[in-house]
Amino acid sequence: MKKKSLVVKNGLLVTVNPQMEILKADLLIENGRIVSIAPDIDSTNRDVFYADDLIVVPGFVQTHVHLAQTLFRNSAEDLPLLDWLEQKIWPGEASLTPETLRLSALLSIGEFFKGGTTTIQDIGIVKNAHVLFETIAETGIRAVSSKMLMDSGDGPQIIIEDTDQALTESLELLQRWHGYDNGRINYALAPRFVLSCSNQLLKETAELAKKYHLAVHTHASENKKEIELVKKRFGMSNIQVFEYLGFTEVSLRLAHCVWTDEADRQILQKYDIKVLHCPSANLKLGSGIAPIPDYLQRGINVSLGADGAPCNNNLSIFMEMRLAALIQKALHGPQSMTAETVFKLATIDGARALGLDQEIGSIEIGKKADLVFLKRNQVHSIPDENIYAKLIFSARETDVQHVMVDGQWVLKDRQLLTIDENEIIDKIKL
Ligand SMILES: [Zn+2]
Repeated sequence: MKKKSLVVKNGLLVTVNPQMEILKADLLIENGRIVSIAPDIDSTNRDVFYADDLIVVPGFVQTHVHLAQTLFRNSAEDLPLLDWLEQKIWPGEASLTPETLRLSALLSIGEFFKGGTTTIQDIGIVKNAHVLFETIAETGIRAVSSKMLMDSGDGPQIIIEDTDQALTESLELLQRWHGYDNGRINYALAPRFVLSCSNQLLKETAELAKKYHLAVHTHASENKKEIELVKKRFGMSNIQVFEYLGFTEVSLRLAHCVWTDEADRQILQKYDIKVLHCPSANLKLGSGIAPIPDYLQRGINVSLGADGAPCNNNLSIFMEMRLAALIQKALHGPQSMTAETVFKLATIDGARALGLDQEIGSIEIGKKADLVFLKRNQVHSIPDENIYAKLIFSARETDVQHVMVDGQWVLKDRQLLTIDENEIIDKIKL
């Protein structure tokens, strides 16, 4: 079906283009892409959307999330990472049915849209990962997702799979979903973390990634106990393990990287490894504070994600942006993480982490129309001499009024258009 052309009039555009321009201008959207940015675009015979008093920003990109964990929100409190996984999360994930997994994904995506997130990188689930892809497809969110790989370690037997079976299923999902809907959905290989994977699984995953030119999305160096156990097993650091096994030859995306030494950071820099920073989760699990200003100084790409709802306990990019700035300011001084820098982490740098920076992450001609419209004039956020400060420190996710992905509305007047919010809440509430 040919998509209509739409003129967005009079919005304040926070473009995140290379000049970081903020413009009062119109946008012309055709076939899901931005084709013109100019004052007074002719709206004859075109649909018009008036964005007076709205701020228009690129759709936010969250590069590390767990669609499968949202039903465990508010049920796994006050535990460190490895206990949190063993006592709460792995048994919870093992208990999901296709129906409850779908509800978890719908709840998550509804929250993403209502908070302005239009692109996610989801690390998937071991069993029934196809349900995640089907839910992503029907809701219209842009996503990279995965079957999560686990074939060893301390998890319940029900989610620890045979190595060959896990990889065979990954390839089936890859063939079914990679590039789906004009590239809106993509596939990445996702070993959960080194400790839940055998050497054979890690080696074969690296080989498959090279063979099919796939990205690898995993957790790394989140927690001190985790890095000690990895060192004991391999005799080298967690980050060095990835280099040793050949993961640095493909697009490698590592959630957390809280505990890294100088040698690790040189590896991150040398191979352009993408750091997926999850400040809320790192704080709440007591894992620590990632050395983000140091990574940025080295030119390492950093982006943001809410991680799973049981360690956060929400999926708000606004919360992550605010914390990403504040925790570094407390440690390294008020200039260590500006609002403008953080806004880039949540938009264009997120797009770059996913290899999508030619398609999304900014408001520029030729890019896909993934856009978020926020109320500008609110008691909690005016005046706004510094727009980035407003967006990071004053704005709230409830300021998000309308959201589109690929030029298609998914949220209008804060109503979800592709998800029945009331039905989901009725099914989930206690
Ligand atoms: Zn995670």
